[in-house]
Amino acid sequence: MDAPTPDREYGHVTVLGGVRGGKYPYGHSVLVRGSEEQIIIDPSLSLLARPTPPPADRVLNSHCHEDHVAGNHLYPRAPCHLHERDVAGIRSLDDFMNIYGFTGETDTAFRKTLVEQFHFVPCPDAHGFRDGDVFDLGDCRVHALHAPGHTSGHTVFHIEPDDVLYLGDIDLSSFGPYYGDASSSLLEFEATLAMVRGLEARAYATFHHIGVIDDRETFLARLDRFAQVIAARDARLLAFLAEPRTLADVIAHRFIYRPGDDLDFIDDVERRSMTQHLSRLAAAGRVEEIGPEHFVARAA
Ligand SMILES: [Zn+2]
Repeated sequence: MDAPTPDREYGHVTVLGGVRGGKYPYGHSVLVRGSEEQIIIDPSLSLLARPTPPPADRVLNSHCHEDHVAGNHLYPRAPCHLHERDVAGIRSLDDFMNIYGFTGETDTAFRKTLVEQFHFVPCPDAHGFRDGDVFDLGDCRVHALHAPGHTSGHTVFHIEPDDVLYLGDIDLSSFGPYYGDASSSLLEFEATLAMVRGLEARAYATFHHIGVIDDRETFLARLDRFAQVIAARDARLLAFLAEPRTLADVIAHRFIYRPGDDLDFIDDVERRSMTQHLSRLAAAGRVEEIGPEHFVARAA
């Protein structure tokens, strides 16, 4: 296993560098040490590579996805908190699977993956929080800011007084925004990107890849590039629809993943993601549905 990314300290906040640069299935977790209690945010698989996981009195998850909750089991006695729109997923495996909305064999296979590779243990007592809720750790505080789209309950956290903004899976990667689950929303993700753009902080942390960005200019450039991927998907889709295509054609063409990528959930994700692009473009009069699941671009 590669050496983890070095940890970064910002007062009460430590961004715990993940294994393999925080590439999926790994990630960078965040530890907040207050005078009264200590919180771990998004305990990742990377924590299993440490001699001992850092102690924590409470677990916060930015959202209910396998890689963000993979270390929750390391804190069996710590209360666990997710946004109220995602919290059902951590309470039961069936509700966790409803967040993805996989079908058939993909659903069966991913249930096994969740338990065996991501150590999922249901937490029936998990607490739901809301936008604006504050976790007071004594001499520092964690503010929950609902930032939906990736999942319905996805939340970013602002930690004071250290002024660190943890962005979860608004990961600023070249892959771009992911909104391919049953509980995802492209429209909500776009509103979230605009909201996050207005949040100023001393440091911006992501779960995957980047880790920490220390200056606002770099953050804004990465955020804009990340957001631009949505427009690029629209443009590629419109070009593809220069001649009539079925939804099956669109799915097979691959707009989210690359043509060579081979994971069994990809068709489900392409269908859900691109259906949202199609309905948005149809509402804007740029795509016409000429038959059931049959589309063509309208001349501009
Ligand atoms: Zn996620």
